[in-house]
Amino acid sequence: MGRRSPTCWAIAGCYFGLAALPAAAADGGRAALQAACWAPAALAARMGENIPVRRPARAATRPPKVGDDLALGLAPEAARGGGLPAPGVVRSVALPPGRKLIALTFDLCETAGETAGYDGAIIDYLRSQGVKATLFAGGQWMLSHRLRAAQLLSDPLFEIGTHGWVHRNTRLLAGAELAREIRAPSAAFAAVRAELGSAECAAGQAAALAAIPERPRLFRFPFGACSAASLQAVADAGLIAIQWSIATGDPSPARSAHAIAEAMLRGARPGSIIISHANGRGYHTAAALPMAIPALRARGFEFVTLSQLLAAGRPIIAETCYDARPGDTDRYDFLFGRRPGTSPALELTSPHARTAPPLPQ
Ligand SMILES: [Zn+2]
Repeated sequence: MGRRSPTCWAIAGCYFGLAALPAAAADGGRAALQAACWAPAALAARMGENIPVRRPARAATRPPKVGDDLALGLAPEAARGGGLPAPGVVRSVALPPGRKLIALTFDLCETAGETAGYDGAIIDYLRSQGVKATLFAGGQWMLSHRLRAAQLLSDPLFEIGTHGWVHRNTRLLAGAELAREIRAPSAAFAAVRAELGSAECAAGQAAALAAIPERPRLFRFPFGACSAASLQAVADAGLIAIQWSIATGDPSPARSAHAIAEAMLRGARPGSIIISHANGRGYHTAAALPMAIPALRARGFEFVTLSQLLAAGRPIIAETCYDARPGDTDRYDFLFGRRPGTSPALELTSPHARTAPPLPQ
């Protein structure tokens, strides 16, 4: 499926014929909004934009003020465990027989000491193929990539969840620091949405703007690591915690495109959730997608957003966060020094102390 030109959208369906009309209605007009705001060239990847740039931690972006509605005044149904039937984190979704839905997810992690990348080659490919996906964006990432964040919000192919404020390990946080890591990204989301809504190009696009959620619904823990307290804090914020069932291993520079595609193909089951990165640290992810996506489609899989996947079946929920086996993401407690409350001896003897992967999930 090729990119639709603004002209085509303006005259409603010249590209797809009459079939475009229900599709346009189904996306709430977001495609028309996007086309009104950006020419295809402005949406496309730019050379070098995928490369993270270090910056002093003191230059980190200040989180936006978290409004009362984001802090406390959530709708009662949202405040009840984020809408999950049981407390925990979603690893995959059990689907009715015959439904072969699968969810691609891409994390947009950014720490306080950097401006992370935007891997436009990934997004361009997904758009060119009409592949739906979910992006988990860090709060600071959204504010350091306001234009890209607004483009992603306007795109009917994508759902935007959040991924911490500056990618801190919530197992090690409490109080205001924990609240900031979990809730401030929602305020960043709202700020970008408001900015898009007030843009000149959005005039007359009220229906399309209304189709963009006012706040994110999904949260992915930085490092895929959580504690009972941080799980509860996510639920209290009205967010659903989303883990994954297939790790592509793409944060490792040594992980080849072929190996990433192979992990997707080998692990794919109906209801799977695949994690990759689009912040410049999925080093060979863009090259892997053209290998994996057509092959998965040939096997009958349909790509959907996380909310669509959740709506289609029953979430498989784990009580703790982990990658392949319970406890394995606890090693991130030791990435940046000794875990508070642990003895130096425990730190030195922990098998995890020297086995942290090179880059964060
Ligand atoms: Zn991350």
